[in-house]
Amino acid sequence: MTAQLIDGKLIGQQVRDEVAAAVAKRIAEGKRKPTLATVLIGDRPDSAAYVASKGKACQELGMGSVSEHLPSDATQEQVETLVKKLNADPNISGILVQLPMPSHIDEEKVLSLINIEKDVDGFSPLNIGRLAQKGREPLFVPCTPFGSIYLLEKSGVKIEGANAVVLGRSNIVGMPAALLLIGKNATVTVVHSKTKDIPNTLRQADIVIAAIGKTEFVRGDWIKPGAAVIDVGINAVPDSTKKSGQRLVGDVNFNEAKEVAGFITPVPGGVGPMTIAMLMKNTLRAAEFQDL
Ligand code: NAP
Repeated sequence: MTAQLIDGKLIGQQVRDEVAAAVAKRIAEGKRKPTLATVLIGDRPDSAAYVASKGKACQELGMGSVSEHLPSDATQEQVETLVKKLNADPNISGILVQLPMPSHIDEEKVLSLINIEKDVDGFSPLNIGRLAQKGREPLFVPCTPFGSIYLLEKSGVKIEGANAVVLGRSNIVGMPAALLLIGKNATVTVVHSKTKDIPNTLRQADIVIAAIGKTEFVRGDWIKPGAAVIDVGINAVPDSTKKSGQRLVGDVNFNEAKEVAGFITPVPGGVGPMTIAMLMKNTLRAAEFQDL
């Protein structure tokens, strides 16, 4: 292996430790406990597991957590009423409505209702709009792209002036990752399902962020020698040696890419642990805004 492994578990734990220390200091100073409200609509097991792990992380870091659960047939009005109630509650620092919402709910409308100072997921159009504009700062950066860029910076990868290729243009990962990289003065190409000749586009990249949800799509000979590769993808593949009968792999063929790249994140243990760590950081930041 030639690439340096970027250890998201370790770096994520360092972020959590910093947040826990800041929370303890706030509480010792008599300030409000940072508290995250999660809203789960429906019973998707994966969404329920994500919401539970967010609540658990809050507890581990000394923060408060409130979990709201609406049935899958909740009306638009019920969801909006709940978000408005949480917006108005001074004990709630941050609000996270778990995605995806059921298809009958107008997701954009719900996200735009979240008070920008409590939008710890960073998905409100106001936060994304600020991220896209020169000279403007979003109050919160979406957690997975925030964690991806944090891993690059902590590993000493130079972003300014680099050619970066982002695979995927989703609202939650690819597009905000591209905007963050532009904001940090990289030259960014965004690749999607209609892009021609992805291998040769990638061969120009000093930095690759892969977020398409396709098992080991990126091959080793698409990677520029020495490039930094951040693999956001989480894909389950059958594995009879595992108790669960499956294992998780990324969007990059790790075994091939690690022989060419300069830096690489593993799956699992790369970007995954950063997402909740950055959510905790954002929730602390929200509480700090609300002190003002
Ligand atoms: P998504 O909403 O499904 O978006 C996928 C993106 O990939 C789209 O922009 C799509 O292009 C593009 N794409 C799909 N197939 C492609 C192909 N063959 N060639 C080039 N581009 C292609 O996915 P997402 O929510 O961004 O998630 C992406 C991956 O990251 C998933 O594996 C997900 O599980 C993972 N993820 C991980 C974390 C974490 O914490 N680690 C958090 C979020 C997501 P079009 O726009 O043209 O359709």
